[in-house]
Amino acid sequence: MSRSDANWCAKFHRLFACHVSNVSENANSKIEFTEASEFGLSVHPLTESPSKAWRKCKKKQKSVKLENFTPGGPVEDDKVRVVCMSDTHCKTSIMPFDVPSGDIFIHAGDFTNSGSLDEVVEFNEWLGTLPHKHKIVIAGNHELSFDPTFTRRLESYDFAALRFDRDQIEKVNNLKNIKQFLTNCDYLEDSMVERFGLKIYGTPWQPEYGGGAFNLPRGRPCLDKWNLIPEGVDILVTHSPPLGHGDHCWPGVRAGCVDLLVTVQERVKPKYHVFGHVHEGYGVTTDGNIIYMNASSCNLRYLPVNRPIVFDIALPNCIAKTLFSK
Ligand SMILES: [Zn+2]
Ligand SMILES: [Zn+2]
Repeated sequence: MSRSDANWCAKFHRLFACHVSNVSENANSKIEFTEASEFGLSVHPLTESPSKAWRKCKKKQKSVKLENFTPGGPVEDDKVRVVCMSDTHCKTSIMPFDVPSGDIFIHAGDFTNSGSLDEVVEFNEWLGTLPHKHKIVIAGNHELSFDPTFTRRLESYDFAALRFDRDQIEKVNNLKNIKQFLTNCDYLEDSMVERFGLKIYGTPWQPEYGGGAFNLPRGRPCLDKWNLIPEGVDILVTHSPPLGHGDHCWPGVRAGCVDLLVTVQERVKPKYHVFGHVHEGYGVTTDGNIIYMNASSCNLRYLPVNRPIVFDIALPNCIAKTLFSK
């Protein structure tokens, strides 16, 4: 990180700690994204090549890593504490840490390996042990049984092309109404809930990779899903990352969706964007206006080594949290 980046980052931390809702007015660097202005919210011309798209626009973008992001001390009365995880992949019983307490728990998908009934029931039971008042969950590409379009397509699938073995897939293919087993959370799928007056929207779709659930070709099919996200969302939860934030696979290669980045920055403008999917992209970044968090618990080797990401968010119009105690 350059010295000017470090100064900018420190300034951002100060602003953010005090006045969450004023960050975009006070942060000195309004990020211009000329591609978005030039092409509106139509499909980005480099949508098929995320690495190339990032090389083209990165001079005008900031993606600054925020270290020591976890708030210290108890949460203030006019804020709620949000605890975020993703990509736990049936490893919750061997995580080498406790899940911090808070008001809202968010899981951004890939809580199973294949979406089998046993895995979903076990995850639901684990959710039931968490102390958070509200728990919000979306699916990821590993929740095969959650995507009816995936199970319908299976008749014509080339099993060898999938990253899941045939036994796993046949086991989940006969499962019906699997979502009913998630009784200890709000399950979001292109839908929104309002908790403590905060609007939280969740969507499981991701650019095609490995042939799992909720996979879509890059470009128009993905953008059609992003276009469903309403403006005015406070916390956006997607399974996969936008371009440039938590999407670095290895040097020079990015996996994020440029159309999701444009949607988030130019239209939806949430305060926070929570996701996972790219295990090696764990961490918190900002473009100066929005905080992006890749909350993947598992690393590349599917070991659950990354701690939950925690943040405190101000309630709308400084409403006291106790008003929502019923
Ligand atoms: Zn995963
Ligand atoms: Zn995933």
